Amino acid sequence: MRAHGALTLCLLLPAGCKSTAAPPEPVARPVIVIGAGVAGLGAARALHDAGLDVVVFEARDRIGGRAYTRDVGGVPVDAGAMFVHGVVDNPLAALCDALGIGVEPTGFGPIPVYDAASGGWVEGGFLQLMMATRDFEDRIKELAAALPADASVRDGIEAFLGEADELSEDQRRYASFALTQLLIEILESGPPDTMSLRAYVESPYQEFAGGNHVVPGGYGRVVDALARGLDIRLNEPVSRIAHDASGVTVSTPSGDLRGSHAIVTVSVGVLKARKIAFDPPLPASKLAAIGRLDMGNLEKVILRFEEPFWRKHGAAFLYIAETPGEFPGFTDWTDAAGAPTLVCLYGGRSARDVLDKWEDEEIAPRAIQALREIFGADVPDPIATHVTRWRDDPWTLGSYSYLPIGSSSEDMRELGEPVGGRLLFAGEATEPLLYATVHGALVSGLREARRIAGDTAALPGIE
Ligand SMILES: Cc1cc2nc3c(=O)[nH]c(=O)nc-3n(C[C@H](O)[C@H](O)[C@H](O)COP(=O)(O)OP(=O)(O)OC[C@H]3O[C@@H](n4cnc5c(N)ncnc54)[C@H](O)[C@@H]3O)c2cc1C
Repeated sequence: MRAHGALTLCLLLPAGCKSTAAPPEPVARPVIVIGAGVAGLGAARALHDAGLDVVVFEARDRIGGRAYTRDVGGVPVDAGAMFVHGVVDNPLAALCDALGIGVEPTGFGPIPVYDAASGGWVEGGFLQLMMATRDFEDRIKELAAALPADASVRDGIEAFLGEADELSEDQRRYASFALTQLLIEILESGPPDTMSLRAYVESPYQEFAGGNHVVPGGYGRVVDALARGLDIRLNEPVSRIAHDASGVTVSTPSGDLRGSHAIVTVSVGVLKARKIAFDPPLPASKLAAIGRLDMGNLEKVILRFEEPFWRKHGAAFLYIAETPGEFPGFTDWTDAAGAPTLVCLYGGRSARDVLDKWEDEEIAPRAIQALREIFGADVPDPIATHVTRWRDDPWTLGSYSYLPIGSSSEDMRELGEPVGGRLLFAGEATEPLLYATVHGALVSGLREARRIAGDTAALPGIE
């Protein structure tokens, strides 16, 4: 993974974010938060604890948004976000501690790599993939400078592989797998052919030091703890927000609610689909930013088994399929779920292709077929499966934001700008350094809470 800068909280929570909005009013009308994902719940919790009246409208029949732990075969498994990306100075890790929810290291060691073409485990495979990734990251800035401004990440990968004369045919295949399917499609979620190389080089999202951790029992525990005591109204899709100098009027199927401010935390996918009408319309600069940004794809096949037959090979394994993109990464989720569970991850263009080609009923058997190829015909049938379709989920429309050709992280900053002092925006895609993550969503929610209530808006464990 790239750009593991150990960020500090003062960088994440600039004091300057207080200046543009109207000062807090007497608590005559509620602050209305649109969306009960981590950004919305973080904002609502901070404002509620600061003594403000807050109402959260959520379109679904559940809270959490993309931080969603669901039952698969009787155990809790994260269908959306699964890792806490680093613990050093990570406000999300601090929040988990303060809420009494510990996080556990993933314990991934060297990850075995299975190559379908040669029909076996690749000796030193993981090291080869890591070296390809490191060399790519070392070279890509220079290669990008020589390519046109509208070059894609795929152009960058091709330029890198094009100059790597020393690689054998197999090594080239492995490097292509590491860069296209792992580094870009799974981590970034963007299709390599539409993702901007310039933005990738100039504006990588940031993770914290300390390695990936998981929330035992799932992210749902964090979400539930944040939501405790809040006025959250489920099944209330917001269709319209009118705003003026004195406040906002938010429309849902139950009618209109007048509030002091609205904080919109819906995904870029939902904003692009224009599911919420704004009156007056959003400024041209914000609409242009929404038009340039986009959602990537990361999807999962969750497989719950009686026995963790894969475990002798480690806590994760990689699969280089004959058809690129089909189920490249498998992660053991047994410890976090509390029962034998395997999570298969695939993303980017490949995820779109798989979802287009197959119904859910066909996708899980395909993943099991891959497991039988790797571990042998006696791999048992799972006792339960779940296939995610974040791409088609009407309240998300993708997995998380990425920077397509023609966009830059400046568009994310623009997306987070308030409009007229009463209409505020949060959500992962409004954080130019921390997008695509739960910690980014949390920081964005707290950022907007502070814009309304100043430093009195705080979250447990975060100064
Ligand atoms: C498969 C997958 C894996 C991921 N893995 C990780 C990971 O390991 N680590 C990590 O840090 N991040 C991960 N992420 C990203 C992370 O989940 C998101 O960045 C984060 O949860 C976004 O939070 P949010 O509050 O900005 O948006 P959301 O969670 O999308 O919240 C927005 C809320 O608004 C609601 N809404 C939408 N429209 C309306 C409307 N009109 N009216 C009312 N409500 C509405 C939605 O239902 C939703 O609840 C992953 C995401 C996916 C999909």
